[in-house]
Amino acid sequence: MNMNAIYLEAPGKIAVAAVAQPERKEQNVLIKVRSFGICGSDIGAYLGTNPLVSYPRIIGHEVAGEVLEVPEDETELKIGDRVVLEPYVYCGNCYPCKNGHTNCCENLTVLGVHINGAMSEYFSHPRHLVHKVPADIPWNLLAMVEPLTISMHAVKRSRVKKGEHVVITGSGPIGLLAAQYALALEAIPVVVDPVEERLEFARKLGVKYTINPVKQDAVSEIKAITQGTMAEAVIEASGNAAAIRSSIDYAAYSGRISLVGWPKNEISLPTALFTKKELDIVGSRNSFRSFPESIQLIAENRVDVAAVITKTVAFEEIPELVHDISINPGNYLKVVALV
Ligand SMILES: [Zn+2]
Ligand SMILES: [Zn+2]
Repeated sequence: MNMNAIYLEAPGKIAVAAVAQPERKEQNVLIKVRSFGICGSDIGAYLGTNPLVSYPRIIGHEVAGEVLEVPEDETELKIGDRVVLEPYVYCGNCYPCKNGHTNCCENLTVLGVHINGAMSEYFSHPRHLVHKVPADIPWNLLAMVEPLTISMHAVKRSRVKKGEHVVITGSGPIGLLAAQYALALEAIPVVVDPVEERLEFARKLGVKYTINPVKQDAVSEIKAITQGTMAEAVIEASGNAAAIRSSIDYAAYSGRISLVGWPKNEISLPTALFTKKELDIVGSRNSFRSFPESIQLIAENRVDVAAVITKTVAFEEIPELVHDISINPGNYLKVVALV
């Protein structure tokens, strides 16, 4: 039997295509896909700018669906349950895996990147990477569980505590969700972005402090907001070289910086400042052990993921939207499809 999938034959060539419907593999759950989000990495796959992607490829890793078949020894999941997929398939044997950092497994295969993703009608996925969700969360919001974990992981990596100032550079979906998660932790987010509309949007989400680094002196603004200390934590969510450089100036002495944005090129940084300020600078990749908390935050409406969804569309509209997002990225935060 065939099913429809969002198929990238090669960079720039995207279409709805008929592919073989997957059979459930051993220890896997077969799901009927009900919603998925379009991620920046899907756009990278479309444009051919993500060196990790091989072609042809079915994209998509922000996925929710309904359980169709479970492993024989399954006791918790039932047919018809709503689930979300954790899309980072790890080996379990390498050094990071053995130390619990399965999100940066040496042999990691991510849906839609190294292996086929789930922008399709059916999908078979390892049982241990399937999370049950409450029945009353709308499908389009469930596609936001994975993106929220990315932001949560970045915030956790910089060990943000209640009452601390968290500068977030970049107000795309990751930055805006990180700001909301910081608010949920009762920290004080400060969003820095050159696009006025995005700053206005951040303020609507409850962010008190926003800075446009093109029009304002960001360092002195942050100094004023923090009464001279500078930010205890900085989340760099833009991947922009100037923003990465500035994050070092935004951080307090003994501050923490987590880098979740992916820069396009290698950049040089004043490492003497790392030492002088004794900064903890960490990378943040994917997420681990964050799905249950992300589901709970959405279920309790403590993070308004709906606000970050620009558009909810039908499956057939995805190829056209992927193309439009690739040429007008500024027009979109998150686009979610219902299947
Ligand atoms: Zn994503
Ligand atoms: Zn591994």
